[in-house]
Amino acid sequence: MIQKGNVKMQCTFCGRSQPDVNKFIASPNGTAYICEDCISICDSILKDEGVINIKKPKILSPSEIKKHLDDFIIGQNNAKIVLSVAVYNHYKKIGYNMRAKAENKLPLEKSNILLVGPTGSGKTLLAKTLAKVLEVPFAMCDATTLTEAGYVGEDVESVLSKLLTSAGGDVKKAQNGIVYIDEIDKIAKKSENRQLPKDPSGEGVQQALLKIIEGTVANVVVSSSRKGPYQETVSMDTSNILFICGGAFVGLDNIMKSRLTTRNLGFTETNTEHLDDNCVLPQDLIKFGLIPEFVGRLPVISQLEKLTSDDLKLILTKPKNSLIKQYKEIMQLDGVKFDVSESALDEISNQAIRLSGGARGLRTILENAMLDVMYKLPNEHIRTVILTKKDNKLKCICKNKEESQSISLHLS
Ligand code: ADP
Repeated sequence: MIQKGNVKMQCTFCGRSQPDVNKFIASPNGTAYICEDCISICDSILKDEGVINIKKPKILSPSEIKKHLDDFIIGQNNAKIVLSVAVYNHYKKIGYNMRAKAENKLPLEKSNILLVGPTGSGKTLLAKTLAKVLEVPFAMCDATTLTEAGYVGEDVESVLSKLLTSAGGDVKKAQNGIVYIDEIDKIAKKSENRQLPKDPSGEGVQQALLKIIEGTVANVVVSSSRKGPYQETVSMDTSNILFICGGAFVGLDNIMKSRLTTRNLGFTETNTEHLDDNCVLPQDLIKFGLIPEFVGRLPVISQLEKLTSDDLKLILTKPKNSLIKQYKEIMQLDGVKFDVSESALDEISNQAIRLSGGARGLRTILENAMLDVMYKLPNEHIRTVILTKKDNKLKCICKNKEESQSISLHLS
């Protein structure tokens, strides 16, 4: 029962009345009122004391998680299974650890995740989608922009600030969130054996990240206070935050191959069909330049495959929010029906393969192909647009349904 306006009301808690208060809520019998500020204070007290439950991450089984991921991510079946199991176990461990604390038992260690795969294969999308499916806050950062404390650049705690913002400033919620750190391979040491004295963008950042990844209580700047003269900070425990790191690790395959050759030479084995032959092992990552302690904190390693032209075609059309579905929706707003021919889908995916950026190129190619027609909308003469391949180029054919007349636009 919310009342405002001309009746003189007074907050039964703080005693303030209008015009100092914007909104009152009246008791069901109308004899008492509470103002917005007192409601907010009560809310924080109840949350702090655990009376109001902070929304816990949705607990889904691994197969349920995978099913949700399938709605948005094409291919990468193995990575989706590995992640679904890892994430399920992660949130199960959080539940166990809360009970273990009360019962004085040792907590279970968390297993952060490393995604290894080419650019544009879906690493970021996987991490983001997981957070969406589980309804937990999500933040991401690029490892190359991070520096260890004392150097110019973003410190590693800045990603926790972003997570806090994503949780709407709710520290408890943020502490159960997911953080994705992209381009982790770019902060590898230049060589396994070279110890640089001070290395602000390599080993130093790995050391700094190590602390928050393994679990610490960090002082996190509240984003909204970043620009002001006084920065407000809050303590955030990172023990339950799931960290997912991703990178392309160009050259890692050579390290893996040399591991196999060395093994075969040493033991004169003829059969190279071993379970770990195609799997990235911690020792490969250390050879690549990640420090052993850091690798130790990323026990779940999942590899993503390079997307094929068929995968790219499916990415254009199949996911719930695919690019083609998005174009259909946008054009629908102008009363236009949009369709795309099989030959155009082939052409777009082949062009993307030539760009070597995985699925990343799809949007740019499609946007270029659609630009002229999008510029002409809304247009009463255009009721249907068909994107097709003509004379080896992507072309939009526009039709006015009533006149059944084709208007061919000149597109590159
Ligand atoms: P990465 O992090 O591996 O470099 P991203 O996840 O950022 O790649 O992918 C870039 C874009 O390409 C995403 O926004 C998504 O639209 C698309 N994409 C990439 N891989 C897939 C996939 N396997 N399934 C569906 N879409 C994908």
